[in-house]
Amino acid sequence: MPARAIDCHVHLPTPDWLDGSMAGYVEAAEAYFRSPVQRATLAGLAGKYRELGVRAVLLAWDAETATGRPRVPNETVAAACAEYPDVFTGFGSVDPHKGEAAVAEVAAIADLGLRGVKFHPGTSGIGARQPGGQGIRLDYARPIRLDAVAAAYPGLTVIAAHFGWPWHLELIAMALHKTNIYIDISGWSPRRIPPEVIHELRGRLASQFVWGSDYPFISPERCLSELGALGLPGDVLQKVLYANAAQILGLSEP
Ligand SMILES: [Zn+2]
Repeated sequence: MPARAIDCHVHLPTPDWLDGSMAGYVEAAEAYFRSPVQRATLAGLAGKYRELGVRAVLLAWDAETATGRPRVPNETVAAACAEYPDVFTGFGSVDPHKGEAAVAEVAAIADLGLRGVKFHPGTSGIGARQPGGQGIRLDYARPIRLDAVAAAYPGLTVIAAHFGWPWHLELIAMALHKTNIYIDISGWSPRRIPPEVIHELRGRLASQFVWGSDYPFISPERCLSELGALGLPGDVLQKVLYANAAQILGLSEP
């Protein structure tokens, strides 16, 4: 196991997000992932990741129009990154339903020093095994919807989170076709990731996979231990855990 890793998919484990924005979703996700979600402060989160030797990419959250729930402001994530620059990097989030205001916010996200923009179109364990899926539609989570974007903007790096199961073959085809598409394996216990995905991760697409946990829904410790048990070659593990993400994020750590 390499000493360094970057967890590309970390939500804020703070009560304002879990018990505000995610209220009612958390309980469903806990049942789905079969693990309790721990609340933590930002200082606690920084300490945990520092101890693990892992950099966390913190995610803002804005799906206010569809969910009616309060966002995790981009400023909150930027402030956390400024306070703990040794362990945190951040992605902002905008709700595309906000139209012109959302476009303006993308520029503001860059000015805040955040390294990307997170959109929340679909699913993982959120809404799972609930009547109506708690109102969450799966068709918006189809990877192919990102293909036109990646084709139109070859200079744009697209990271598709949770690899789009059950349309993961669709995403694999897209990543094989377009070098600006990356696959984030977060939101899955690594030992349950479909074999077709692992086959590409250790083969042709080793340079286009990044690791994420989806903390606090799945712990980075569990992911790292299960990834270590998959028997991947050392150079593949190093790319997926660290090098690919470092390149995307422009991190110049020695
Ligand atoms: Zn997530």
